[in-house]
Amino acid sequence: MNTRECLDCDLVVVGGGMAGMTAAARAAGKGAKVVVVEKAADIGGSAALSGGYVWTATSLAQMNLHDDGDPRLHAVIIEEYPEVLAWMRARGISMRPPQKVLYGRGCQIDMQDHLRKAVTEVEAAGGIVVRDTGTREILRENGGVAGVVTVHADGETELRAASVLIATGGFQGDPELRARHIHPAARVMGLRSNLTSSGAGLSLGIAAGGAWAGPNTGYYGHLVATPVPFRTDSDFVKYTQYHSIHGVLLNCAGKRFVDESDDDHASSQLTLRQPGASALLVWDQRVQDDHAVVPPVAGAEPLDRFQIAIDAGARGGRAVTLEEIAGIADRLGFDGAACVAGLSAFNRQMSAEPERAVPPREAHDRPLDRAPYYVLEVVSAITFTFGGLLADAKARVLDPFGEPIGGLYVAGADVGNVFRRGYSGGLALASTFAFRAMRTAGY
Ligand SMILES: Cc1cc2nc3c(=O)[nH]c(=O)nc-3n(C[C@H](O)[C@H](O)[C@H](O)COP(=O)(O)OP(=O)(O)OC[C@H]3O[C@@H](n4cnc5c(N)ncnc54)[C@H](O)[C@@H]3O)c2cc1C
Repeated sequence: MNTRECLDCDLVVVGGGMAGMTAAARAAGKGAKVVVVEKAADIGGSAALSGGYVWTATSLAQMNLHDDGDPRLHAVIIEEYPEVLAWMRARGISMRPPQKVLYGRGCQIDMQDHLRKAVTEVEAAGGIVVRDTGTREILRENGGVAGVVTVHADGETELRAASVLIATGGFQGDPELRARHIHPAARVMGLRSNLTSSGAGLSLGIAAGGAWAGPNTGYYGHLVATPVPFRTDSDFVKYTQYHSIHGVLLNCAGKRFVDESDDDHASSQLTLRQPGASALLVWDQRVQDDHAVVPPVAGAEPLDRFQIAIDAGARGGRAVTLEEIAGIADRLGFDGAACVAGLSAFNRQMSAEPERAVPPREAHDRPLDRAPYYVLEVVSAITFTFGGLLADAKARVLDPFGEPIGGLYVAGADVGNVFRRGYSGGLALASTFAFRAMRTAGY
């Protein structure tokens, strides 16, 4: 493309991950000429790294119970979810039968199949998918949007369109934004996501008149062994300690600070807020056999996550006695005696009076008393942020007065305040808001 080439289309999609490619294919299927602008060398974003479980809570009540985000935005996911799955099936995307996922239900889809087909569908309708291309600004005319200006190796292109969808996947890739909006310790936290979602959607949307949805320190993440640098994409899953729900988490003073049985994602957020932003995860041989080496969800690979982490240089060890646990904890900079006291108190409570446990332990309330013990220092790693652009249930970007900006839509992790603390599926969030945005845009 030459400098400041101009191109007309019906819809510009900024970001070619789950939300962007779903919206683009949906609109193309209805005859729209779509241009997808992807900053990375290829499309896919975190969706391409994901397990492909398109799942969510089975009812609005259940989603509201697990998360205190905006219930009107929760409803978008619940309402559009069956439509998304029906559309995936109609397009022949290969997928497994429905299965239980966390407290909801979903299907594991072949993500590459979905992404590849989406590109074909966009191109078949006369659109294009451009890669290695940034977006400098969203153009505004007559109170609404008029397209975007992209920047690429050959210069700039003006893409003229009545509708623009922001779908850049959140701001987890920007340490300063993480520190500002989540917690000071989030500046140096692990990134368990694509590397390119750094808040572009937020800044483009705000520059175009949209508003920040308001404070939201939540994010979706997991506990990972440390210090294990993620070297390849598959490391994200390998080093994630999903079975933390069956173990005990102790801070450097040996105190429990969370109901571990809630879920690993919730524990991850609270671990970030502990002194040193880390915790000691302890489990026993029963948990190791029954949970740690068992896939967290049907269809996933069984892995010995402890051994894999230790082999990669993670901080931890195996202990036969409580004294050995104390020794490992001391070596890692935790108060060993206090950690053993914390573990012993937990075991006493689970054996005799679980109702006295503080923080409570709602499930998996068995003592950890079958040696050997597994001890691992864990930290929080982020997959996507919950703060983002102010949007309504039509997936329209709103200005600071709550008025929609004509033709400007948002989907996926860029939508602010759908979730706050809990989480009911990132792929569902992305694809359902993509559907809702396209429905509002007339596709
Ligand atoms: C290891 C892993 C496993 C996961 N497993 C699951 C799972 O099984 N189920 C589930 O529900 N969720 C899962 N997730 C989360 C899920 O992948 C995300 O929630 C989902 O992909 C978010 O969709 P999105 O479209 O908002 O962002 P993404 O899919 O990340 O797409 C955002 C895209 O925008 C692009 N972009 C960024 N900035 C710009 C810019 N300035 N201009 C143009 N493009 C830009 C990015 O390069 C990227 O391609 C997983 C994530 C990871 C990392």
